[in-house]
Amino acid sequence: MTVSFHLCQPGGGASCGACCGLYNFRDHSRLAVAEQLSMQTERLRRVPWEASAWHEAARELLAARRAEPMFSAVRVCPLLGFVDNERKQVGCLAHPLVTGGTDLRDCGVYRSSVCETFTCPSFGWLTDAQAKLVQVACADWYLYGLVITDVEFVRGCLRLLEWELAGPARPEVLMEQPEALAAIRRMFALKETAPRRGTNATVFGRFNRDADGEPVPRTVDYVKLGVRASPEDDVVLCLGYAPKDATELMGARELVRSHVKAVARALAA
Ligand code: SF4
Ligand code: SF4
Repeated sequence: MTVSFHLCQPGGGASCGACCGLYNFRDHSRLAVAEQLSMQTERLRRVPWEASAWHEAARELLAARRAEPMFSAVRVCPLLGFVDNERKQVGCLAHPLVTGGTDLRDCGVYRSSVCETFTCPSFGWLTDAQAKLVQVACADWYLYGLVITDVEFVRGCLRLLEWELAGPARPEVLMEQPEALAAIRRMFALKETAPRRGTNATVFGRFNRDADGEPVPRTVDYVKLGVRASPEDDVVLCLGYAPKDATELMGARELVRSHVKAVARALAA
């Protein structure tokens, strides 16, 4: 079963702009990303809804970009911004629903037809229930995009929970229990909050940037660290940990394990 509700703008506080390049910087902290979006929103708010003016504004914004993209394959579009007055919903400022009917997406980094039809792998790889759980647990413009686009992370967290419960961890059930849902949110929020992940300039989640700027999957070098593989390691990698020794790896595993146990405890309460 694949997702049937709209993954990009599901509502309830969740919204995503990952494929428009939202996080495609070495510093993709909430603060840095929010500043970038605010700057683009402010600049484009004053531009008349005409293609020539938007092309020019887009060129200006690209030239003023705060840093080079981390992965060259993922373009960073200057037309992404906050589409609501409260600045809690990320989205395309050039979309006809935002501009009052004029489609200005051709002024961005892709053609409008690409923006209209693109679906990321999460559409096919997450079940409807998994995607709904992420939406409900991550009702937040910054966290939602980080989690919904990381299929291995979502699956890995739920797999660890099933092992801990020695039984199924059905998203439908998790969503019904407020304390379990709060614990799930804290577990998913590790994407933002996990400490001591270092400042490796080439690591983004479970990917490394190769010499050409392309993302390549990472693994744990068990031989070098002198440890055996553990079920937590997929999630550890998705969180962006690149442990240099066994102690660092053990610490990251323990962090993940403690959050999984917290969800299990909340379910049993
Ligand atoms: S990364 Fe996926 S969920 Fe996010 S906006 Fe793009 S297509 Fe939608
Ligand atoms: S124009 Fe396309 S790539 Fe740019 S923000 Fe809009 S949807 Fe994303």
